[in-house]
Amino acid sequence: MKHLTETQLSAYLSETMDESEKLALEHHLEQCESCFHDYLTAMEEWDPAITLSGSFTDEVMTVIGDQVAPSQPASSKKRMWINFSAAAGLTLILTVSGLFHEMVSFADQKEFKQAPSITEKMMTQTNELLDGMKKGDDKNE
Ligand SMILES: [Zn+2]
Repeated sequence: MKHLTETQLSAYLSETMDESEKLALEHHLEQCESCFHDYLTAMEEWDPAITLSGSFTDEVMTVIGDQVAPSQPASSKKRMWINFSAAAGLTLILTVSGLFHEMVSFADQKEFKQAPSITEKMMTQTNELLDGMKKGDDKNE
């Protein structure tokens, strides 16, 4: 096998290489110190973020923009995702505060036994909020 080219190394690093080609390249790297050195240099210079940055940054900026200015029209898919994230965060907060409440109530066993399940209450409230979000979305369609 000939020495590895820069193209081969970048194909290897970006994992766009055939499995058999990859094995041959790895085999060569094991035996050839000069190519292994080239490989290390290429790896140090390799930054997959450069190839991602363009569209990825745009998408992130769009999402942030939607959240800062919710009156702007957004695709329903995106809005659904934001609602989902908000609901997930809300559920977490409610669950954590619910657990915290239960821990406090645990100190007073009598009261704790008589009180309705706090977690159940929280779940009902979260579902109501989710329904409210869905209805709000339907109006906007
Ligand atoms: Zn070599």
